[in-house]
Amino acid sequence: MKDFAHVNATSFDEAAALLAKDNAAVIAGGTDIIYSMKGMNTPNLPDTLVNIKTIADADYIKEEGGFIKIGALAKLTAIAKSSVVKSKATALAEAAELVASPELRNMGTIGGNICQKPRCIYYRNEFNNFPCARKVKGGTCYAITGVHRYHSIFGGVGGCMAVCPSDTAVALVALKAKIVTTKKTWEAADFFKVPNKEFGTARGEQINALDLDEIVKEIQVPVTSAKSTYKKWAFRKAIDFPQVSVAVVKDGNSAEIALGGVYNEPKAFSGVNCADPAKAGDECLAKATGMNTPRADGQADRYSNTYKIQIAKVMVKRAIGSL
Ligand SMILES: Cc1cc2nc3c(=O)[nH]c(=O)nc-3n(C[C@H](O)[C@H](O)[C@H](O)COP(=O)(O)OP(=O)(O)OC[C@H]3O[C@@H](n4cnc5c(N)ncnc54)[C@H](O)[C@@H]3O)c2cc1C
Ligand code: SF4
Repeated sequence: MKDFAHVNATSFDEAAALLAKDNAAVIAGGTDIIYSMKGMNTPNLPDTLVNIKTIADADYIKEEGGFIKIGALAKLTAIAKSSVVKSKATALAEAAELVASPELRNMGTIGGNICQKPRCIYYRNEFNNFPCARKVKGGTCYAITGVHRYHSIFGGVGGCMAVCPSDTAVALVALKAKIVTTKKTWEAADFFKVPNKEFGTARGEQINALDLDEIVKEIQVPVTSAKSTYKKWAFRKAIDFPQVSVAVVKDGNSAEIALGGVYNEPKAFSGVNCADPAKAGDECLAKATGMNTPRADGQADRYSNTYKIQIAKVMVKRAIGSL
């Protein structure tokens, strides 16, 4: 375990000021960041953890001004069970319900869920045994020639093939949510752009474009008459990240679709004609290639992830069909 100082913050501004001053990071539920501190999987770990659970009234869920507003400290369980989220932003409630296990959903916050680190097996390997491009300047991507069955089927920014691991991120992109931070209000699709120019630093390890001293305060989901759903396919039924997931927001025959588990960020498709659900699935996956790295001995790639393409097509078809 890496040694660290622990500071309780009483406001988001105070927490952001602490981040700007020290080599510090936020701790919310701690279900992801403590894993990294224990595993010492990257050389870019913080020296100080700034606890934001001590900030009062930051876990609300309310409907206001045409939005469902969710405080960054709202627990995933609360979002999954919220009647307003279930009825007016169904995809988000379903995504929250499918994260990990009840214990992790009881501890894990929505802010932490959309700021968790990549789940690539090489990135997560303890003691930085695989100093890959994401963690170390000049590092390589071990997944390209190694195990890549869980990785991107749409290529990767900066040569990193890790997928966005967050379930709720996918729903938020399809729902066209806004993310309010201590610095600005982001469109979800912009928020989840991976900062590839900073690979090899703490910021480049993020699954989003936040500055290191920027903190998520609130999620805003617009309330519309469109229906939505989130479906997830994983090898295990529980406590597993999505190999493929899909969020669909359907208004008549037009749909906003986001795919998870297939690219560095939620892969978004806007204004998809969903009159024929199977065709919509084919359209979303038309540019997917998967990874098929020839083995040195000329044998087929046993770690290919091209299996995801057909699964994703069927998931899109079924998700549209369910609405
Ligand atoms: C066994 C296991 C299974 C899991 N399965 C899934 C899964 O299926 N789907 C899924 O989506 N996730 C999964 N997770 C990942 C994760 O634990 C949860 O997503 C959880 O929501 C993280 O929230 P937290 O509050 O515990 O975050 P923390 O661990 O406290 O923080 C995570 C990261 O976010 C940063 N952070 C936290 N809050 C903020 C904020 N408000 N603003 C800016 N940065 C912030 C922290 O600095 C840290 O880098 C799993 C984790 C484990 C251990
Ligand atoms: S996919 Fe990304 S995180 Fe994984 S080994 Fe390659 S560069 Fe590192």
